[in-house]
Amino acid sequence: MINFYFSDEYLNHDTGSHPESIQRIKTVKQLLNNKYNKHHFIEPSKASIELISNVHDKQYIEEILMNIPKSGFYHFDPDTIASSTSLNSYLMAVGGSVDSVIHSINHQSKNPVYFCAHRPPGHHAEKNKAMGFGVFNNVAIAAQFALEQKNYNKILIIDFDVHHGNGTQHIFESNPDIIYASSHQYPFYPGTGNENEIGVGNIFNCPLPSGCDSDLFRELFQKKIIDKINMKFDIIFFSAGFDAHKLDPFGFYQS
Ligand SMILES: [Zn+2]
Repeated sequence: MINFYFSDEYLNHDTGSHPESIQRIKTVKQLLNNKYNKHHFIEPSKASIELISNVHDKQYIEEILMNIPKSGFYHFDPDTIASSTSLNSYLMAVGGSVDSVIHSINHQSKNPVYFCAHRPPGHHAEKNKAMGFGVFNNVAIAAQFALEQKNYNKILIIDFDVHHGNGTQHIFESNPDIIYASSHQYPFYPGTGNENEIGVGNIFNCPLPSGCDSDLFRELFQKKIIDKINMKFDIIFFSAGFDAHKLDPFGFYQS
């Protein structure tokens, strides 16, 4: 049984004709309805400013809130777009991620599995900078929250998006209790993710060549991540961007 965090509110985060669009979550919703309707669905709560400020500076959060437009669009960067109805999605993407941690604490004996089908994504969002579709780093806020609970002392974040999660890496690069492991096309946007970026021994980057197929992916992922991390974890987060799939135009897979 998978616990899905999903809300129709995500259909209101209008980004115009940008690829990270309402249509994207409509497709996800259709798939959830058709194939996963026997699973458990939970409405995410809206994260408080207090919770978000465990990772992002308060001044930055205020800037985001102030720049939500009354109409039309506001561009935090060329790819990170807000409309008048975006704020609830921002807060619920964080809220659902943290809710899943709280839910897991209450159901720990069952080894529960959660899937947060939310938008916008957040792994490019830096402590003080909106970037690459996201304003708040959902997984970083949830991992930081988990670390502050007494149940979870060692935390692993695995990021298999085709892009490197610069924001997540930078937020945790000096925190030995949170391990960040990422496979990504390299060199590629956002430019980070070199193997030499190791933080305090808690960062494991697995750069992949453009057009990498499944066999090479498995080989490199085993060598650069699985073989190198010799630790037990209390909770694992997956920063699950699916744009490394060969049918996704964001990566450059050539068959
Ligand atoms: Zn991506």
